[in-house]
Amino acid sequence: MSISFLHGTQGETTAQLDDESRTLELGARLARALRPGLRIYLSGDLGAGKTTLVRGCLRALGYQGRVKSPTFSLVELYEFSRLYLYHFDFYRFEDPKEWSDAGFRDAFSGSAVCIVEWPQKAAGKLPAPDLEIILEHVGVGRAVRIAGQTEQGELCIEELVA
Ligand code: ADP
Ligand code: MG
Repeated sequence: MSISFLHGTQGETTAQLDDESRTLELGARLARALRPGLRIYLSGDLGAGKTTLVRGCLRALGYQGRVKSPTFSLVELYEFSRLYLYHFDFYRFEDPKEWSDAGFRDAFSGSAVCIVEWPQKAAGKLPAPDLEIILEHVGVGRAVRIAGQTEQGELCIEELVA
C-alpha cells in the first residue's frame, strides 16, 4: 500500500495514481472505509479510471467475478454480508429526468452504498453525495481529488488515507 496523499487548500485530499495498480489500491482503501448508506460520486472523463476504482473496491470486499461497467445496464447490485453496494453509471442519460423515471430513488434512500459514475447526467435529481472523487488524466497516469461533503464523508476519508 503506497499511495501518498496530500491535503489541498480547499480541504480536499489529493494523490497521484501512477498506474492502474494505484487506482485499484485506492479502491481497496475505499472498501475498508465504507459505511452503510454512503453516497460516493465519481467524476472524470471517459477512461479516467472510475470503473477501475470500483473494481478495486469490489475485489477488496471479496467479489471475485468480473466487474462490468454498468454503462448499458445503468446499475449493478453487489451483496456482501456487511453491506449492499450499487454501482451506477448514468453516462447514457440524455436528460436528468431519466433518473426519476428509472425508479432509482429508493436505492439512494436506504442503507446500501451507492457509487455513481457520471452523476452530472442526473444533476438536480440525485441527492447530494457524502464523498466526491474526481479523476483526471495526467501524463500516462491519473490524479485524484477526494472531497468530503458530509461528516460521514469526512470520516470515510480519514480511514481511507490511514
Ligand atoms: P472510466 O470508468 O473512468 O471510463 P476505466 O476505469 O474504464 O475508466 O479505465 C480506463 C483505463 O484506464 C483502463 O484501461 C485502466 O486500466 C486505465 N487506468 C486506470 N487507472 C489508471 C492509472 N492510475 N494510470 C494509468 N492507467 C489507468
Ligand atoms: Mg466507467
